[in-house]
Amino acid sequence: MKKIAVIGCTGSIGTQALDVIRHRRSDFRVAALSCHKNTDLLLKQVEEFTPQVVGISDEAAYKAVKDELIAKGIRVLGGQEAHSGCIETSDCDTTLISVVGFSGLSPLVSSIRLKKQTCVANKESIVCGGSAIVELCKQHGVELLPVDSEHNAIYQCLMGNEGQQIRKIHLTCSGGPFLHWAKEDIAKATWQQALKHPKWNMGRKISIDSATLANKGLEVLEAKWLFHVPLEKINVVVHPQSIVHSMVEYADGSILSQMGPTDMRIAIQFALTYPKRESCIMPPLDLFTMGELTFLPPDVTRFPCLALAMEAAKAGGITPIAFNAANDVAVEAYLKGAIPFYDIPKLIESAYQRFHGGEEPVLSDIPRMDAAVREYISKSIS
Ligand code: NDP
Ligand code: MG
Repeated sequence: MKKIAVIGCTGSIGTQALDVIRHRRSDFRVAALSCHKNTDLLLKQVEEFTPQVVGISDEAAYKAVKDELIAKGIRVLGGQEAHSGCIETSDCDTTLISVVGFSGLSPLVSSIRLKKQTCVANKESIVCGGSAIVELCKQHGVELLPVDSEHNAIYQCLMGNEGQQIRKIHLTCSGGPFLHWAKEDIAKATWQQALKHPKWNMGRKISIDSATLANKGLEVLEAKWLFHVPLEKINVVVHPQSIVHSMVEYADGSILSQMGPTDMRIAIQFALTYPKRESCIMPPLDLFTMGELTFLPPDVTRFPCLALAMEAAKAGGITPIAFNAANDVAVEAYLKGAIPFYDIPKLIESAYQRFHGGEEPVLSDIPRMDAAVREYISKSIS
């Protein structure tokens, strides 16, 4: 039986992971659960899954429910380090890193250092951790299991082909809600329109990232580090049906793909049950009714965030951290209605003027670099 720590248990990925676990109760025990502040949902999950350890990063939310949880015999951790604390102090052997944003870096590092089976949904930590995370994995003999659907698909297409020559990785992209919109209309798009993803039901931040294609940009960086491929071999392909989750093209011209329903639970379960494949609660993909599959090149004129991410991947050093932090602050402002859609790429570009290139950062420097970019962009918004 695997003992799982679900880090970010109240989010879109976290709740879908608990759904997978609920349907495979004999395979899993929940060792730890952590969230930021949604304690109403957390308390329900605690009742159902009885973890030993619970983490709540928002201080006020932690104080509000701490005594109630302690009375149940649960160890409760508060503050930003609560997420990594859940990994460090529970008896988990497997972790799912599914918090949103930069806060994923610290639990990811703990999970690797403690040699846990590490399932990663949080892409921002891989983008910012970059070569330092790759090095840490090497040191501790840990292989990350990607949950992000595209990377999960690529991982599956690479299985059994170790050492073979890869010609291209084709990273598929739904195109988001504005795929067919004219640039003038996208410029006026509200955050409410941007949140309406045609294919996936996800958290707010990744939904906006999918509308700007910053998400695909983050995923290019994520693929570069996870699969050790040069940027020139990563090809973004718009595939609006979101059935082919990504592809690997080998030297002989063979293209392997992983297909499946548009539902994250298959990728989550694959990572959690790895190396076994088990039956899933998802109904199978019906090949006769799924319709046509189409593939288009991306348009970086309407979606400049993708080109900016490519620039970050080329420049290396601090630039991916600048991309992520500037994007994060800009998305928060956009979600408040404080800036228009195309200010998101403009703010990322302005971050590059100040924070660009240099050596690949060491782990201990990354939080400081992230904070510096955030401060700079927050000031330029206000
Ligand atoms: P959600 O916004 O739905 O959930 C985020 C989770 O992180 C919640 O548990 C939330 O807690 C917690 N959280 C929020 N703010 C903080 C903070 N400051 N510090 C620590 N934890 C925090 O996000 P998603 O589930 O959509 O995404 C999670 C990660 O997975 C992201 O990195 C995303 O890019 C990635 N991903 C998501 C996919 C999806 O389909 N949703 C697909 C592929 C990747 P609380 O609820 O208490 O606020
Ligand atoms: Mg994805």
